[in-house]
Amino acid sequence: MIEISGQSYPEIRESVRKLCADFPGSYWQDLDRDRVYPTEFVQTLTREGFLSVLIPEEFGGSGLGLGAATAILEEIHRSGCNGGACHAQMYTMGTVLKHGTPEQKADYLPKIASGEIRLQAFGVTEPTSGTDTTRIRTFARRDDDNFVVSGQKIWISRAEHSDLMVLLVRTTPREECVKPTDGISVLLVDMRKAIGNGLTIRPVRTMLNHATTELFFDDLVVPASCLVGEEGKGFRYILDGMNAERTLIAAECIGDGRFFVDRASAYATERSVFGKPIAENQAVQFPIARAHIQITAAAEMVHKAATMFDDGQPCGTEANMAKMLASEASWYAADQCLQTHGGFGFAEEYDIERKFRETRLYQVAPISTNLILSHVGTHVLKMPKSF
Ligand SMILES: Cc1cc2nc3c(=O)[nH]c(=O)nc-3n(C[C@H](O)[C@H](O)[C@H](O)COP(=O)(O)OP(=O)(O)OC[C@H]3O[C@@H](n4cnc5c(N)ncnc54)[C@H](O)[C@@H]3O)c2cc1C
Repeated sequence: MIEISGQSYPEIRESVRKLCADFPGSYWQDLDRDRVYPTEFVQTLTREGFLSVLIPEEFGGSGLGLGAATAILEEIHRSGCNGGACHAQMYTMGTVLKHGTPEQKADYLPKIASGEIRLQAFGVTEPTSGTDTTRIRTFARRDDDNFVVSGQKIWISRAEHSDLMVLLVRTTPREECVKPTDGISVLLVDMRKAIGNGLTIRPVRTMLNHATTELFFDDLVVPASCLVGEEGKGFRYILDGMNAERTLIAAECIGDGRFFVDRASAYATERSVFGKPIAENQAVQFPIARAHIQITAAAEMVHKAATMFDDGQPCGTEANMAKMLASEASWYAADQCLQTHGGFGFAEEYDIERKFRETRLYQVAPISTNLILSHVGTHVLKMPKSF
């Protein structure tokens, strides 16, 4: 592993690295084969307090900022592990923390901090609306002290491993709203009560081990006390959470990128072909150096987005730019690492092909590259909108 000077939170990074050493490639390969959830890894991270860093101390967390959380996820990914199984436990609670009632915070946050409650599922995407979130159709109808939810979600990760889910629903039809972003609300769904009582979960097998699912709501009754914030204002509540999510996922990409550069530079130095290390050939060496440069630059953007978030500044553009740069840098590094390993890159025991599959996700989820380019093109550069 190459030394990176001036990295933030060196002690946290060192502790994460030590923890991850107990979860070597063979652990992840076994789970990956059968798409099994990394329960032991998640429990260990929870027990050591790494998933509650963003929860204020008064609610049992360590009250650190997004900068610390990015350091944790980067190191997890750099170690060859994957935080995708549990990263949402870190940030999904932000919607409750910022917009929940005092009762919701007191009821849930201490238990989320201790791990007694897993808040790992964030239900936004639907099969017909895709990225156009204002067109979600899952509808929550008010019925006295309850909401009755009907509809469908897709790609909702970790739903089977969550006790609570932050669910985005329409509470007023789009056509009856002044703005398309109005009439959307956030519900906190207790999965333990919902499954089998109006909520059905269907796992979706994907090219990576990500515990993602499809959800079907058939008149699921949710108490009105589970509404987060004001009815109809949910769209703006989740935007802030999305900035945290994009920044943290960008940090995972930085970790992936560093994993690939570490592995590629070490392998290229060791592997001898035509009587000398392949790294002596600049055609092998330069792409690895380029990957390192791209990751280093993207890491600066991640740092900027996290710092702005922690300072309470609007950081939507920076979080998006960080996610795009980091996901592209990690993908370039993945490709070069695979190429550097030749045939061995395809062998499961090297972990390169697994990480290669895992890091590809981040150019699509949680937001695809085109939508980030569109945001920058229209909001930042003020060019005409296409939609
Ligand atoms: C493994 C996995 C886990 C996920 N986990 C979750 C989760 O936990 N919760 C959740 O809510 N969602 C989750 N998602 C969903 C993810 O956020 C979406 O897949 C992503 O936002 C893209 O939406 P879509 O798949 O509907 O693509 P679409 O919106 O159908 O877009 C398809 C392609 O067209 C492009 N495109 C669309 N419109 C335009 C346009 N106007 N201009 C240019 N290009 C355009 C997009 O960039 C994209 O490349 C997950 C997805 C995956 C694959």
